[in-house]
Amino acid sequence: MAIEKTFSIIKPNSTLDNNIGNIKSIFEKNDLRIAAAKFTKLSREKAEGFYIEHKERPFFGELVDFMTSGPVMLMCLEGENAVMKNREIMGATNPAEAAEGTIRKLYAKSIGENAVHGSDSEASAQRELAYFFEKNELVDRF
Ligand code: ATP
Ligand code: MG
Repeated sequence: MAIEKTFSIIKPNSTLDNNIGNIKSIFEKNDLRIAAAKFTKLSREKAEGFYIEHKERPFFGELVDFMTSGPVMLMCLEGENAVMKNREIMGATNPAEAAEGTIRKLYAKSIGENAVHGSDSEASAQRELAYFFEKNELVDRF
């Protein structure tokens, strides 16, 4: 199977609750390797641009408030079938519906404060990685 790259955000509720290490260890146990990482706080402009597809949704303002409320860890994860594997181990958007053992079941507080973001397709992954990382910031190991 092909090695893919996907984009992940460890969201502010997780960084504030000291769960960065716990979440990274779930990625590592599932053979997702970190190919780039940045610890930062998003500006409103950057967060609004990232979630532009949700601009008309009623929760857009709340989503941007939350994503700019504290630090985030932006990452490129790499591995076999990385996009779909990451979506599986993240669990459902709403933690009440997330499967046992998934990151959102373990660390999300609510549908809004839901611990992590993960790209939903290879095309989204390429777009999202390019939005946050320069090409030379992605470390090639293969
Ligand atoms: P993400 O894109 O963050 O990985 P997702 O793909 O599971 O999550 P989307 O439908 O893309 O979910 O929604 C983006 C984000 O918007 C969700 O992760 C969540 O934080 C927030 N969100 C979605 N639905 C709601 C809602 N009904 N109320 C509040 N926030 C919501
Ligand atoms: Mg999404």
